[in-house]
Amino acid sequence: MALEGNAAAAAANGHDGSRRRHVLVFPLAYQGHINPMFRLAGILHARGFAITVFHTHFNAPDPARHPEYRFVPVPDGVSGPAPVAMEDVVSHIFALNAACEAPFRDRLAAVLEEYSRDAVACLIADGHLLSMVQVATRLAVPTLILRTGSAACFSCFLAYPLLINEGYLPVQESELETEVSELPPYRVRDLMRVGNHDLTRELLERAVAAVDTSAGLILNTFDALERRELEKLRQDLTLPVFDIGPLHMLSPAVESSLLRQDRSCLEWLDARPPASVLYVSFGSLACMSPRDLVETAWGIAGSNVPFLWVVRPGLVAAAGEENEVTVTRLPDGFEAATRGRGTVVAWAPQEEVLRHPAVAGFWTHCGWNSTTESVCEGVPMLCRPHFGDQMGNARYVEHVWRVGFEVGGELERGAVEAAIRRLVTGKDGAEMQARAGELKKAAKECTGVAGSSHLAINKLVDHMLSL
Ligand code: UDP
Repeated sequence: MALEGNAAAAAANGHDGSRRRHVLVFPLAYQGHINPMFRLAGILHARGFAITVFHTHFNAPDPARHPEYRFVPVPDGVSGPAPVAMEDVVSHIFALNAACEAPFRDRLAAVLEEYSRDAVACLIADGHLLSMVQVATRLAVPTLILRTGSAACFSCFLAYPLLINEGYLPVQESELETEVSELPPYRVRDLMRVGNHDLTRELLERAVAAVDTSAGLILNTFDALERRELEKLRQDLTLPVFDIGPLHMLSPAVESSLLRQDRSCLEWLDARPPASVLYVSFGSLACMSPRDLVETAWGIAGSNVPFLWVVRPGLVAAAGEENEVTVTRLPDGFEAATRGRGTVVAWAPQEEVLRHPAVAGFWTHCGWNSTTESVCEGVPMLCRPHFGDQMGNARYVEHVWRVGFEVGGELERGAVEAAIRRLVTGKDGAEMQARAGELKKAAKECTGVAGSSHLAINKLVDHMLSL
């Protein structure tokens, strides 16, 4: 019989005389995947589990930041610079899976022998690490999948073969605005895309296979945000689904940033009036063309709205150097034109920035972490999705939660200026902010002691101990 919440935590702790239970985790080595996995590890550690982190050499975590965890490096055999283009990121994910499979099997077998098999509760693997899930299954280790996107996004993964059969995919330019009646509220252009059709299909097939092979699906989302989508997933899947997000609100703060966060921008924000600043960041992977950078910069400058802009190395891939991470140079004259009104950093402490009272809006690429972090702080969004699940997330922001809108099409400075003013000082921007405030309240309730996410964590712990 499964243990209830506190009893489960005590069992994990070994307070009832049982052995301390180990949880093994294997994050995918990209920023948007590392952050939620470390948050989840923090939650489980607080519940009494010992944590062992398997990781690739690529984007390896810093063990010194987590002295309470054990780290097991898995040789990934993948050399060369970090991929920049999305197609290359996906090929890199496939290559990491292939290269890590055998070394992971050896290291997992050694860990099982050392801890004793009964002391290991399960492996929690990122949803894009099918090969690791298969290795663990062959060694009789139960697995759970952490998916770092939304419930709606995973429904899109499940529906992909149907959408191909129905003719929505591969995407035709002429059909971009067609509504996908099988998967509302998506239009064709909102469907998951990572480069070419075959690559996307293979990525999604593998992600679905990973979940099918596992004993449960963990999602960084919460009931009040995606109730309908979670219900649909539970109908479509035969395994338990744990909506335990937003993880950043439930877990002890952890520093899992791959780039150094420049905290000076928090002091800069301290000196700004409440709800006055636009925060601009496109996450860790999205790239802009040199032309879009110029239009973005002059649009920001022309809006006269104070801004904090994250311009990370590699934000613009230099011509002819698509695989080089380069320092991004802003247009001549931009600094002089915006002096005293804005600040630019290479990487920000984003959660703290979004929590800051001076922030009025977020111009984002709509990565799922950025989207939920913004929603949970009641910050309305300008959306400029680039690839993957970002178009679908932007659709939810604009059409379902109505806490922002998309800046679509060719970027043009006049349109950028107008969009920024609309969000930060316009009447409908104020309405979006009010709705975002409601979502913030809902997120707080879900993460409270009797809230849905808290209860889902109890269920997850019970489930892990029953495997
Ligand atoms: N982030 C950050 N500092 C920045 C920009 C982003 O710490 O300057 C964090 C952000 O809080 C989020 C993650 O990086 O947790 C980005 O994940 P997301 O899913 O939004 O986008 P991705 O980088 O995967 O495209």
